[in-house]
Amino acid sequence: MSLEALNERVRTDLAYLAFGGASWVLPADHPEGHVYDVVIVGGGQSGLGIAFGLLRERVSNILVIDENPEGLEGPWETYARMRTLRTPKHLTSIDLGIPSLTFRSWWEAQFGPQGWESIDKIPRGDWMNYLRWYRSVLRLPVINEVKLKLVEPSEDGIHRLHIEGTGAPSDRLLARKVILATGIQGGGEWHVPSMIRDRLPTRLYAHTSEPIDFEALKGKKIAVLGGGASAFDNANYALSAGVAEVHVFVRRTELPRINPIRQMEGSGMIERFPTLTDAEKYAVMAHFFKHNQPPTNDTFERASSWPGFRLHLGAPWLDVEAAGDRAVVTAPQGRFAFDFLIVSTGLLTDPALRPELRLVERHIARWGDRYKAPEHLANPVLDAHPYLSPGFAFLSRDAEGEKKLHGLFAFNYSALISCGLSASALSGMKYAIPKIASAVADQLFLDDRDEILGRFFAYDEAEFVGEWPKKEASATESA
Ligand SMILES: Cc1cc2nc3c(=O)[nH]c(=O)nc-3n(C[C@H](O)[C@H](O)[C@H](O)COP(=O)(O)OP(=O)(O)OC[C@H]3O[C@@H](n4cnc5c(N)ncnc54)[C@H](O)[C@@H]3O)c2cc1C
Repeated sequence: MSLEALNERVRTDLAYLAFGGASWVLPADHPEGHVYDVVIVGGGQSGLGIAFGLLRERVSNILVIDENPEGLEGPWETYARMRTLRTPKHLTSIDLGIPSLTFRSWWEAQFGPQGWESIDKIPRGDWMNYLRWYRSVLRLPVINEVKLKLVEPSEDGIHRLHIEGTGAPSDRLLARKVILATGIQGGGEWHVPSMIRDRLPTRLYAHTSEPIDFEALKGKKIAVLGGGASAFDNANYALSAGVAEVHVFVRRTELPRINPIRQMEGSGMIERFPTLTDAEKYAVMAHFFKHNQPPTNDTFERASSWPGFRLHLGAPWLDVEAAGDRAVVTAPQGRFAFDFLIVSTGLLTDPALRPELRLVERHIARWGDRYKAPEHLANPVLDAHPYLSPGFAFLSRDAEGEKKLHGLFAFNYSALISCGLSASALSGMKYAIPKIASAVADQLFLDDRDEILGRFFAYDEAEFVGEWPKKEASATESA
């Protein structure tokens, strides 16, 4: 099978499912212009999958916006530096149960079933190519180089989205529902310890999520701070790019070995997580946070096979300072001078960190507002996560915020405590996307319920046109 043949199969499958039926949502009027039923912010795998999920719900007056140029959404070809995805290749996600839309179908259309057998995990660049294909074969309504700057809530149920960028059709969009599919850092920000931020000029360090000029680091000596998967991805990437020495510093005395995601994938924990009580959800996520995701075995093997690889365990950074062109790091093992530092210390989640939410964030209910964790589990990092509805909607901590937050949904990593590993990890998407699509459609329906029910009760269009007694029959009888 070729890609053209696969495209045809997708079209046939969708036709068999009567995909593309007319929207049932009542159009909304606004003096300022067109009102989208839903604007999805973020054109990564989540945004694309949700767009498809909404179209299946026959909610079609939708738009996806993404700040990046077309084809460069998400981390895959920007700052991700691993060779393959970490996820098992057989996991399905944004295909939403349609076999011809799976990564495997797309892969086999090009490389055959044997090609599928021959790969262990999904090559990173190919995952991005698959996302490009998915967007194009489904003709999803995405515009690129459009950044959401601010959500301006209104009392009439229509949000003004202030946007900018070379792809922006104007300076604002109007939307009844807004889904923030803004990625792993989209519920907060990447975290650089203040010791580094305050004491070093930015030319001496970068977070793993930033572009790094590895060409300029050829032959140099650098350090990576962190013991998770990204730390080793970056170490390996740097060494492959010709960096002479990479020292990885890990606070723990042993590398993390357990990957709780693998347990969750097999035990029902991902798909059934939303049925747990708040106490159980919190306890699960407190446990999850204790285990940083370990490096994959192949990445560790590759990185540690380079002669320039060094690993320092039990080696938190106690101090950093700039000394001429170099950064000097103090760890319990001594002082080390490096040409550059790569910081792999993860992210922080808190709606207060999001500029686009600044008009509404004070109303957003957090876990700390709704649940008091027992002392041995309580963690301010977990407490700062938004307390979302089972359908990913922000909830208000006060009466004033209820209208303002109505119609705002968070399908990013900040949903972790409320909805489990759903947004921002492939493992949960096939369960989470239908959930958010259905929750958004429910809300659109309920918002218009008076009108919709009124139309139902007033409906008087005749469908049945038969007559009795039949005209010819009664004429024959009387003759
Ligand atoms: C380095 C790395 C490796 C990962 N590897 C795996 C893996 O192997 N397996 C796995 O299951 N998960 C992995 N993940 C986790 C997750 O799958 C990815 O983060 C994935 O990209 C999430 O998809 P998404 O669509 O939710 O977010 P993203 O792919 O990040 O897409 C969000 C998009 O929204 C855009 N955006 C954000 N804010 C705005 C705004 N205000 N206006 C307009 N656009 C905006 C972003 O620029 C981005 O293009 C990895 C994550 C990272 C960071």
